[in-house]
Amino acid sequence: MTATFTRGPWTTLQLPTGDQKFCVTGNGSLDSIDPTTGEIVATLSVSTTNAEVDQVVSAAHAALAASPWKNDGARRARVLNRYAQALRDDVDRLAELLTREQGKTLGESRNEVLASADMVEYYAGAARMLYGRSMALSDTAHAVVLREPIGVVGVITPWNWPLLLMIRAIAPALAAGNAVVVKPASVTPAITVEGLAPLAADPELPEGVVLCVLGSGGIVGDAVVTNPGVDMIAFTGESGTGINVMKRAADDLRKVSLELGGKSPNIVFADADLDKALDGAVNAAFTTSGQICTAGSRLLVEDSVYDEFTARLGERIAGFRLGDPLDPATTLAPVVSKSQQKSVTEYAEIGRSSGTVLAEGTLPADADEHSCFVAPIVIGDLPADSPVVQEEIFGPVLVVQRFADEAEAIAIAEDSEFGLAAGIWTSDLNRAWRVGRAVSAGSVWINTYHHFYAEAEVGGFKKSGLGRQQGVTGIEEFTETKHLNFDSAESLW
Ligand code: NDP
Repeated sequence: MTATFTRGPWTTLQLPTGDQKFCVTGNGSLDSIDPTTGEIVATLSVSTTNAEVDQVVSAAHAALAASPWKNDGARRARVLNRYAQALRDDVDRLAELLTREQGKTLGESRNEVLASADMVEYYAGAARMLYGRSMALSDTAHAVVLREPIGVVGVITPWNWPLLLMIRAIAPALAAGNAVVVKPASVTPAITVEGLAPLAADPELPEGVVLCVLGSGGIVGDAVVTNPGVDMIAFTGESGTGINVMKRAADDLRKVSLELGGKSPNIVFADADLDKALDGAVNAAFTTSGQICTAGSRLLVEDSVYDEFTARLGERIAGFRLGDPLDPATTLAPVVSKSQQKSVTEYAEIGRSSGTVLAEGTLPADADEHSCFVAPIVIGDLPADSPVVQEEIFGPVLVVQRFADEAEAIAIAEDSEFGLAAGIWTSDLNRAWRVGRAVSAGSVWINTYHHFYAEAEVGGFKKSGLGRQQGVTGIEEFTETKHLNFDSAESLW
């Protein structure tokens, strides 16, 4: 059986190209696969040992030592501003590549490329405003507190928003004057290489300040984490992998920032604008087919509106159009890979056998054994300790939990090892404050969901992460703080 989605011709990319010297090649080969058709999107030369990582990390240090990069904020701003413009100029091509490789809808891919450009622009501005502090400590003593770049930052990224999540780390790291070594997810290497290319080609970017190594997480990723020349690791991925990264980095007391998984509660109170809350619930749970760390994958609905709300949600699920993500009419795309499809389907089956299926979508007629579609499903009446309720599924599986009052809503929301995000839908501002303060989450959306801003921090409580990205904190994470102390007194004591 062959793929049945009819599309224009696609020529498999051979990456990295001769011009993409920032990307270190090895003896291995990796195919990236289109999750809609099973076509090979790109074939990449990748590392299969840790030897290339040594070479890359040394090159990054040499680049920092030989160039004025770390002390020239104006230059860093120019480089980043040109990079943002290059992303905007190339949005059509990059968005198509992203959709072919990751599988998300073309509209989402365009948003990802443009949000990436926006993130770069924000940190281009920040590159010239990385202020320290100065203080008079006595008549003779003065303190100057500087923010200095850390050095070489290893950036390890996941596959769900591969361009934006890489840029969310490299833009502030570079703005602060560091060099970066990127290790992308093996499922989405092509968008990473093509997305980095215009930055690496910038005439004012010293060669070696932006480098990329390709290969498996277990070998190449681990080599980045344990390489003594890597001064900090910015990791985005699953909580289990992140915990392992932290343990591996602990031997050398290397700094880590961790952006990890979630199982976020999206709480609908009876007094909410239910039309808006319905839109929000659909967006929260099914953006990128549920493959988003902040997915509102636990929908909490107050008793008195539970039946009405879930019935209307069912109508929305029935209206989803699953299909080719390059087709603008498609509203729900495949998941990223066969293994993800298998894992998500297994969770859906556990939910089906232990809860009540409240709504379910249908697979596209032209899906075949190459395509990675999963029919969206909404499940209620599950035991609170079910793996479907507690574990991150990362697919279009929405759990619904009912609550009687505010206290119970908070208790259910808090019954999770994660703490990445939450949504609250209510017309009572006092309640919004109370519940917003009570839930353990790095981002809490009130009467909205999934609105991100480069200016505002994101990150996780509990097993959802360590540190913050975006905003002012997002650049400070990539700095060391140094106190220079001056004393003009004639005698020492
Ligand atoms: P993984 O943790 O499987 O992989 C993330 C990255 O780590 C990949 O580049 C992977 O390489 C690499 N890796 C795997 N094993 C190791 C290792 N032992 N040492 C070093 N690196 C390693 O996550 P996914 O790619 O599956 O991404 C989905 C996850 O990411 C979800 O849990 C999601 O919640 C989380 N995420 C969190 C976000 C946040 O902001 N909090 C944002 C987006 C996603 P390889 O691909 O080669 O295995």
